[in-house]
Amino acid sequence: MTQTTHQFGPAATASPDVPLAVSVHGLRVTYGDFEAVRGIDLDVRRGEIFALLGTNGAGKTTTLEVLEGFGARSGGTVSVLGLDPATQRYELKQRMGVQLQEGGFIEELTVLESLQLWQKLVNRVDRPERLLERFELGSKRNTQVGKLSGGEKRRLDLALAVWGSPDLVILDEPTTGLDPESRRRTWDAIQELQEAGRTVVLTTHYLEEAEALADRVAIMHQGIVAVRGTLAEIVSAQPASFSAAVPAGAPPLPALVGEPVFTGEHLQVHTAELQRDLTTFLGWAADHGVALRDLRAAPASLADIYHAVRMQQEDSR
Ligand code: ATP
Repeated sequence: MTQTTHQFGPAATASPDVPLAVSVHGLRVTYGDFEAVRGIDLDVRRGEIFALLGTNGAGKTTTLEVLEGFGARSGGTVSVLGLDPATQRYELKQRMGVQLQEGGFIEELTVLESLQLWQKLVNRVDRPERLLERFELGSKRNTQVGKLSGGEKRRLDLALAVWGSPDLVILDEPTTGLDPESRRRTWDAIQELQEAGRTVVLTTHYLEEAEALADRVAIMHQGIVAVRGTLAEIVSAQPASFSAAVPAGAPPLPALVGEPVFTGEHLQVHTAELQRDLTTFLGWAADHGVALRDLRAAPASLADIYHAVRMQQEDSR
């Protein structure tokens, strides 16, 4: 099996004069006989928000754990804020905030007690009150952590990660399980970190989250980085689609670049020439007096991108 890194968009390696917060070369991680990360390179510039996306089991959390100093690597070099997390975890901890996929809280402590404990453990200065307000946990200050909802726990976890505005914040799926309003507020908090000059590395399963936040992304699949670049570059390299309900009895469709697929009256066309095909299609509807319903045009979704990544990797085998 070959291990090729495919690029839809331009390579996004940082230029030598941009200071790097994270620099990873040839990272490999094995669990027993299984190689979960198979020789990846990542460069995250200081002050940027970088998103790691990918299919389930792609190796995102495994990669973050190495950056955080929690996971051991079997190969490659890793520099985080100029330090090696494998040997300099204590120094790194002073400058890095981490939100794990599962928070490691003491369930019996209240929210306020958790923040006060953090105040003693972390050498960065911050105020529990600021974080209670920022993450809307004020009304829960005296609630035991074990009695918080999933979304409230997630917000407390994030509050601890951003405590004292560390140079680098690593967030593993920061908004999974949050309602839309809490998600929006979490995005605000992440953007505030960037405005303060901090670097953020996060994983997400939401395209709109990466779109809203990330300067650059890397998409992982089966232990390799399959695609990297800005999300706009990656999305625009994939076919877009349009769809509509076409009433029964309409005349035959005109010739289109994309393949028309009907499910009952519902037409969907994936096309590399969205503007051209849409113009032809709407011209056809106007000429024949066809009343279209539910007309929509959309760029490639994350599912489309993952599908393309899978296809490319299968082709390379
Ligand atoms: P998801 O999006 O589902 O959270 P992920 O990209 O974060 O996935 P990882 O959690 O890094 O993926 O897992 C990568 C692979 O390594 C998976 O196949 C997983 O089952 C395996 N794996 C992770 N941790 C361990 C472990 N401690 N022991 C053995 N295998 C593991």
